Amino acid sequence: MTESLGVSRAFRISHGFWRVMDWLYPPRCAGCRKNNVRWCFDCQAKVKVIHQSSICPLCGIPQPGATLCPECKAYQPVYTAVRSWGWYEGPLRNAIHQLKYHNDMGVSEELAKPLAHLLAELNWQVDLITAVPLSKKRRRERGYNQSALLARWLGLTTGIPFQESVIERSRDTTSQVGLHAHERRQNVMGAFTARSQIAAGKSILIIDDVTTTGATMQACAQALQAAGGSQIYGLTLARAGQIHLN
Ligand SMILES: [Zn+2]
Ligand SMILES: [Zn+2]
Repeated sequence: MTESLGVSRAFRISHGFWRVMDWLYPPRCAGCRKNNVRWCFDCQAKVKVIHQSSICPLCGIPQPGATLCPECKAYQPVYTAVRSWGWYEGPLRNAIHQLKYHNDMGVSEELAKPLAHLLAELNWQVDLITAVPLSKKRRRERGYNQSALLARWLGLTTGIPFQESVIERSRDTTSQVGLHAHERRQNVMGAFTARSQIAAGKSILIIDDVTTTGATMQACAQALQAAGGSQIYGLTLARAGQIHLN
């Protein structure tokens, strides 16, 4: 009871802080640049939501008959499931760019809402929410981890504890952009470690902004599994197809 009150107070404080920021610096829609809104109804309506009925049950890629996709058959992931809200295009792509590259941190509260809805629909039992970590260099340059912002809001909204530093990068990787599936797997293989003091025995949800082949999720899940995580799930805002690898 005390804990749930604490969570809702944390939510109110964060929400209030961003309301004040919006008043001081009126926002623009991260999807279409409309004035005085962080994320507008039109942009929300334009998101091409991924239908959860005909996808690979493991990695979540659209798949006829909802059977295992060839990738998952060949390289059985260690996570239980990964799902994404929409396709990485149009307003959602713009909004993720704003969040990632233009310091539009306020939109993370709005974009965490569809993640919370999706999580409720999926009915996953999750003990802890965390995020895919950035490299130390990128974290320093950007000043924040966009996936951790989403994960934090998701935690505040759902009441599930959020902890940022569960997974760490044990080595830097080159950008996954433009790499093929097997190159992506190679690039991130063994790039992460996880803290067993936190992960052991827990069902853990990893948040990322975009997934393409799921290679990063798989590498993070392997680290969590090695640290004793019991179940590992992944949720991302968007899924990029091979044609969107830019
Ligand atoms: Zn808009
Ligand atoms: Zn799959």
